[in-house]
Amino acid sequence: MNRNDVIRLTEEIGFLPEQKFGQNFLCDEISAGRIVELCGLKEGDKVLEIGPGLGALTSLIVDRPVGLTAVEIDKRLAEYISKTYGCRVIDEDYTKLKAASYDASSYNVAVSNIPYYLMTPIMKKLLTELTNSRRMVLMVEKEAVARICARPKTKQYGPLAILCSLYGDIKVEFDLPGNYYYPVPRTTSTVITLTRGDSADILSEGLASFIAKCFINRRKKVLNNADIDKQLLTELGYSESCRAEEISPNDYAKLYVV
Ligand code: SAM
Repeated sequence: MNRNDVIRLTEEIGFLPEQKFGQNFLCDEISAGRIVELCGLKEGDKVLEIGPGLGALTSLIVDRPVGLTAVEIDKRLAEYISKTYGCRVIDEDYTKLKAASYDASSYNVAVSNIPYYLMTPIMKKLLTELTNSRRMVLMVEKEAVARICARPKTKQYGPLAILCSLYGDIKVEFDLPGNYYYPVPRTTSTVITLTRGDSADILSEGLASFIAKCFINRRKKVLNNADIDKQLLTELGYSESCRAEEISPNDYAKLYVV
Protein backbone atom coordinates (compact mmCIF):
# COMPACT_ATOMS: atom_id res chain seq x y z
CA MET A 1 0.00 0.00 0.00
CA ASN A 2 1.72 3.21 -1.18
CA ARG A 3 0.90 6.86 -0.49
CA ASN A 4 -1.47 7.12 -3.49
CA ASP A 5 -3.35 3.98 -2.36
CA VAL A 6 -3.71 5.37 1.15
CA ILE A 7 -4.95 8.77 -0.06
CA ARG A 8 -7.35 7.11 -2.54
CA LEU A 9 -8.70 4.83 0.18
CA THR A 10 -9.31 7.63 2.63
CA GLU A 11 -11.22 9.48 -0.11
CA GLU A 12 -13.25 6.38 -1.09
CA ILE A 13 -14.24 5.68 2.50
CA GLY A 14 -14.84 9.41 3.03
CA PHE A 15 -12.43 9.25 5.89
CA LEU A 16 -10.42 12.01 7.54
CA PRO A 17 -7.56 10.69 9.73
CA GLU A 18 -8.11 11.54 13.38
CA GLN A 19 -5.20 12.83 15.39
CA LYS A 20 -6.89 11.81 18.65
CA PHE A 21 -6.54 8.14 17.59
CA GLY A 22 -2.93 8.55 16.44
CA GLN A 23 -3.93 7.82 12.84
CA ASN A 24 -0.78 8.04 10.73
CA PHE A 25 -0.93 5.32 8.12
CA LEU A 26 2.16 3.53 6.87
CA CYS A 27 2.52 3.98 3.13
CA ASP A 28 5.89 2.42 2.43
CA GLU A 29 5.39 -1.05 1.00
CA ILE A 30 8.98 -2.20 1.51
CA SER A 31 8.88 -1.33 5.22
CA ALA A 32 5.47 -3.01 5.64
CA GLY A 33 6.94 -6.19 4.10
CA ARG A 34 9.99 -6.04 6.38
CA ILE A 35 7.78 -5.63 9.45
CA VAL A 36 5.66 -8.66 8.56
CA GLU A 37 8.84 -10.68 7.84
CA LEU A 38 10.11 -9.80 11.31
CA CYS A 39 7.01 -11.46 12.78
CA GLY A 40 8.55 -14.83 11.80
CA LEU A 41 5.09 -16.26 11.13
CA LYS A 42 4.59 -20.02 11.04
CA GLU A 43 1.67 -21.92 9.57
CA GLY A 44 -1.24 -22.05 12.02
CA ASP A 45 -0.04 -19.09 14.12
CA LYS A 46 -2.61 -16.87 15.77
CA VAL A 47 -1.71 -13.23 15.25
CA LEU A 48 -3.03 -10.19 17.08
CA GLU A 49 -2.79 -6.80 15.39
CA ILE A 50 -3.61 -3.65 17.35
CA GLY A 51 -4.83 -0.77 15.18
CA PRO A 52 -4.92 -2.16 11.61
CA GLY A 53 -5.91 1.25 10.23
CA LEU A 54 -6.26 0.97 6.46
CA GLY A 55 -4.52 -2.41 6.39
CA ALA A 56 -0.87 -1.69 5.49
CA LEU A 57 0.20 -4.72 7.58
CA THR A 58 -3.14 -6.54 7.65
CA SER A 59 -3.16 -6.93 3.86
CA LEU A 60 0.16 -8.80 4.03
CA ILE A 61 -0.68 -10.93 7.08
CA VAL A 62 -3.93 -12.28 5.60
CA ASP A 63 -1.90 -13.70 2.69
CA ARG A 64 -0.12 -16.00 5.15
CA PRO A 65 -1.50 -19.31 6.45
CA VAL A 66 -2.26 -17.82 9.88
CA GLY A 67 -5.33 -16.67 11.82
CA LEU A 68 -5.55 -12.92 12.35
CA THR A 69 -7.53 -10.93 14.89
CA ALA A 70 -7.38 -7.14 14.62
CA VAL A 71 -8.52 -4.68 17.28
CA GLU A 72 -9.48 -1.25 15.91
CA ILE A 73 -11.04 1.56 17.95
CA ASP A 74 -12.35 3.47 14.91
CA LYS A 75 -15.62 1.87 13.78
CA ARG A 76 -15.24 3.11 10.18
CA LEU A 77 -11.84 1.43 9.85
CA ALA A 78 -12.95 -1.70 11.71
CA GLU A 79 -15.81 -2.13 9.22
CA TYR A 80 -13.52 -1.52 6.24
CA ILE A 81 -10.91 -4.03 7.44
CA SER A 82 -13.48 -6.69 8.23
CA LYS A 83 -15.18 -6.32 4.80
CA THR A 84 -11.95 -6.09 2.81
CA TYR A 85 -9.82 -8.73 4.49
CA GLY A 86 -12.39 -11.02 6.11
CA CYS A 87 -10.37 -11.38 9.32
CA ARG A 88 -11.83 -11.20 12.80
CA VAL A 89 -12.05 -7.54 13.84
CA ILE A 90 -12.89 -6.36 17.34
CA ASP A 91 -14.12 -2.76 17.09
CA GLU A 92 -13.14 -1.62 20.57
CA ASP A 93 -10.51 0.32 22.46
CA TYR A 94 -7.86 -2.35 23.03
CA THR A 95 -6.88 -0.91 26.43
CA LYS A 96 -10.42 -1.56 27.69
CA LEU A 97 -10.72 -5.19 26.55
CA LYS A 98 -10.78 -7.91 29.18
CA ALA A 99 -8.17 -10.60 28.47
CA ALA A 100 -10.81 -13.34 28.22
CA SER A 101 -12.92 -11.39 25.71
CA TYR A 102 -10.19 -11.52 23.04
CA ASP A 103 -8.64 -14.89 24.07
CA ALA A 104 -5.41 -13.13 25.03
CA SER A 105 -3.56 -16.32 25.87
CA SER A 106 -4.20 -17.84 22.43
CA TYR A 107 -1.91 -15.58 20.37
CA ASN A 108 1.59 -16.56 19.23
CA VAL A 109 2.54 -13.24 17.67
CA ALA A 110 1.52 -9.59 18.20
CA VAL A 111 2.15 -6.78 15.74
CA SER A 112 1.26 -3.13 15.93
CA ASN A 113 2.06 0.25 14.54
CA ILE A 114 1.16 1.50 17.98
CA PRO A 115 -0.91 4.65 18.36
CA TYR A 116 1.75 6.60 20.25
CA TYR A 117 -0.60 8.28 22.71
CA LEU A 118 -1.25 4.82 24.19
CA MET A 119 2.16 3.20 23.80
CA THR A 120 2.77 2.38 27.46
CA PRO A 121 -0.68 0.94 28.33
CA ILE A 122 -0.81 -1.06 25.08
CA MET A 123 2.66 -2.53 25.57
CA LYS A 124 1.98 -3.38 29.23
CA LYS A 125 -1.25 -5.09 28.27
CA LEU A 126 0.38 -7.11 25.48
CA LEU A 127 3.30 -8.13 27.70
CA THR A 128 1.18 -9.25 30.63
CA GLU A 129 -1.82 -10.75 28.83
CA LEU A 130 -0.34 -12.56 25.80
CA THR A 131 1.02 -15.31 28.01
CA ASN A 132 1.71 -17.71 25.13
CA SER A 133 3.18 -15.29 22.62
CA ARG A 134 6.70 -15.87 21.30
CA ARG A 135 7.27 -12.59 19.45
CA MET A 136 6.06 -9.01 19.26
CA VAL A 137 6.86 -6.58 16.46
CA LEU A 138 6.05 -3.01 17.39
CA MET A 139 6.47 0.40 15.85
CA VAL A 140 7.08 2.99 18.51
CA GLU A 141 8.14 6.60 18.63
CA LYS A 142 11.95 6.73 18.20
CA GLU A 143 12.36 8.79 21.34
CA ALA A 144 10.55 6.11 23.41
CA VAL A 145 13.18 3.46 22.55
CA ALA A 146 15.55 4.68 25.27
CA ARG A 147 12.78 4.15 27.85
CA ILE A 148 11.95 0.68 26.53
CA CYS A 149 15.59 -0.49 26.57
CA ALA A 150 16.67 1.38 29.72
CA ARG A 151 19.01 -0.24 32.24
CA PRO A 152 18.85 0.05 36.06
CA LYS A 153 20.26 3.18 37.70
CA THR A 154 19.34 5.43 34.79
CA LYS A 155 16.67 8.12 34.61
CA GLN A 156 14.77 6.31 31.84
CA TYR A 157 14.58 2.99 33.72
CA GLY A 158 11.08 2.21 34.92
CA PRO A 159 8.17 -0.27 34.84
CA LEU A 160 7.99 -0.47 31.02
CA ALA A 161 11.71 -1.32 30.64
CA ILE A 162 11.42 -3.94 33.39
CA LEU A 163 8.43 -5.67 31.78
CA CYS A 164 10.11 -5.64 28.34
CA SER A 165 13.35 -7.02 29.76
CA LEU A 166 11.49 -9.80 31.59
CA TYR A 167 9.69 -10.69 28.35
CA GLY A 168 13.02 -11.51 26.71
CA ASP A 169 15.30 -10.17 24.05
CA ILE A 170 14.61 -6.62 22.78
CA LYS A 171 16.05 -5.65 19.42
CA VAL A 172 15.95 -2.26 17.74
CA GLU A 173 15.42 -3.09 14.05
CA PHE A 174 15.12 0.04 11.88
CA ASP A 175 13.73 3.56 11.73
CA LEU A 176 10.79 4.81 9.69
CA PRO A 177 10.97 8.52 8.84
CA GLY A 178 7.83 10.65 9.07
CA ASN A 179 7.45 10.82 5.28
CA TYR A 180 6.70 7.05 5.22
CA TYR A 181 3.30 7.90 6.75
CA TYR A 182 0.13 9.70 5.75
CA PRO A 183 -0.50 12.17 7.27
CA VAL A 184 3.16 12.89 8.01
CA PRO A 185 3.75 12.84 11.80
CA ARG A 186 6.22 15.14 13.55
CA THR A 187 8.34 12.26 14.80
CA THR A 188 10.39 9.35 13.47
CA SER A 189 9.26 5.81 14.31
CA THR A 190 11.37 2.81 15.18
CA VAL A 191 10.53 -0.85 14.68
CA ILE A 192 11.44 -3.04 17.64
CA THR A 193 11.10 -6.79 18.13
CA LEU A 194 10.63 -8.59 21.41
CA THR A 195 11.41 -12.30 21.52
CA ARG A 196 10.19 -14.37 24.41
CA GLY A 197 12.68 -15.76 26.93
CA ASP A 198 12.21 -18.01 29.97
CA SER A 199 11.57 -15.12 32.38
CA ALA A 200 8.44 -14.13 30.41
CA ASP A 201 6.43 -16.75 32.29
CA ILE A 202 6.48 -14.53 35.39
CA LEU A 203 4.72 -11.64 33.61
CA SER A 204 1.25 -10.87 34.93
CA GLU A 205 -0.99 -7.93 35.72
CA GLY A 206 -0.17 -8.48 39.42
CA LEU A 207 3.58 -8.20 38.79
CA ALA A 208 3.05 -5.07 36.65
CA SER A 209 1.01 -3.42 39.46
CA PHE A 210 3.68 -4.37 42.02
CA ILE A 211 6.45 -2.79 39.89
CA ALA A 212 4.32 0.32 39.26
CA LYS A 213 3.88 0.69 43.04
CA CYS A 214 7.62 0.38 43.65
CA PHE A 215 8.13 3.36 41.30
CA ILE A 216 5.28 5.45 42.70
CA ASN A 217 7.82 7.83 44.21
CA ARG A 218 11.19 7.32 42.54
CA ARG A 219 13.06 9.45 45.07
CA LYS A 220 11.84 7.52 48.09
CA LYS A 221 13.24 4.26 49.40
CA VAL A 222 11.53 1.41 47.59
CA LEU A 223 10.60 -0.05 50.99
CA ASN A 224 8.42 3.02 51.59
CA ASN A 225 6.65 2.66 48.25
CA ALA A 226 5.58 -0.97 48.27
CA ASP A 227 5.18 -3.99 50.46
CA ILE A 228 8.57 -5.65 49.99
CA ASP A 229 10.29 -8.38 52.01
CA LYS A 230 13.16 -6.42 53.63
CA GLN A 231 15.21 -9.53 54.33
CA LEU A 232 14.94 -10.77 50.76
CA LEU A 233 15.88 -7.32 49.45
CA THR A 234 19.12 -7.32 51.48
CA GLU A 235 19.81 -10.97 50.62
CA LEU A 236 19.65 -9.93 46.96
CA GLY A 237 22.44 -7.43 47.69
CA TYR A 238 20.49 -4.17 47.99
CA SER A 239 20.65 -1.77 50.93
CA GLU A 240 17.49 -1.01 52.92
CA SER A 241 17.61 2.54 51.58
CA CYS A 242 17.77 1.55 47.91
CA ARG A 243 15.43 3.14 45.37
CA ALA A 244 13.26 1.43 42.79
CA GLU A 245 15.57 2.33 39.91
CA GLU A 246 18.45 0.32 41.42
CA ILE A 247 16.67 -3.04 41.31
CA SER A 248 17.21 -5.27 38.29
CA PRO A 249 14.30 -6.79 36.31
CA ASN A 250 15.12 -10.32 37.49
CA ASP A 251 15.19 -9.19 41.11
CA TYR A 252 11.75 -7.59 40.70
CA ALA A 253 10.54 -11.02 39.64
CA LYS A 254 12.07 -12.50 42.83
CA LEU A 255 10.65 -9.79 45.11
CA TYR A 256 7.13 -10.16 43.77
CA VAL A 257 5.01 -12.32 46.01
CA VAL A 258 1.77 -13.54 44.50
N1 SAM B 1 -1.52 -0.28 11.25
C1 SAM B 1 -1.86 0.87 10.44
C2 SAM B 1 -0.66 1.30 9.64
O1 SAM B 1 0.45 0.85 9.96
O2 SAM B 1 -0.84 2.07 8.71
C3 SAM B 1 -2.41 2.03 11.30
C4 SAM B 1 -1.48 2.57 12.34
S1 SAM B 1 -2.03 4.06 13.14
C5 SAM B 1 -0.49 4.69 13.75
C6 SAM B 1 -2.77 3.49 14.65
C7 SAM B 1 -4.09 2.76 14.51
O3 SAM B 1 -4.53 2.37 15.82
C8 SAM B 1 -5.22 3.58 13.92
O4 SAM B 1 -5.91 2.79 12.97
C9 SAM B 1 -6.12 3.92 15.10
O5 SAM B 1 -7.47 4.12 14.75
C10 SAM B 1 -5.92 2.68 15.97
N2 SAM B 1 -6.14 2.90 17.41
C11 SAM B 1 -5.91 4.03 18.12
N3 SAM B 1 -6.21 3.85 19.42
C12 SAM B 1 -6.62 2.55 19.54
C13 SAM B 1 -7.06 1.75 20.64
N4 SAM B 1 -7.15 2.27 21.87
N5 SAM B 1 -7.44 0.47 20.40
C14 SAM B 1 -7.39 -0.04 19.13
N6 SAM B 1 -6.97 0.67 18.07
C15 SAM B 1 -6.59 1.94 18.26
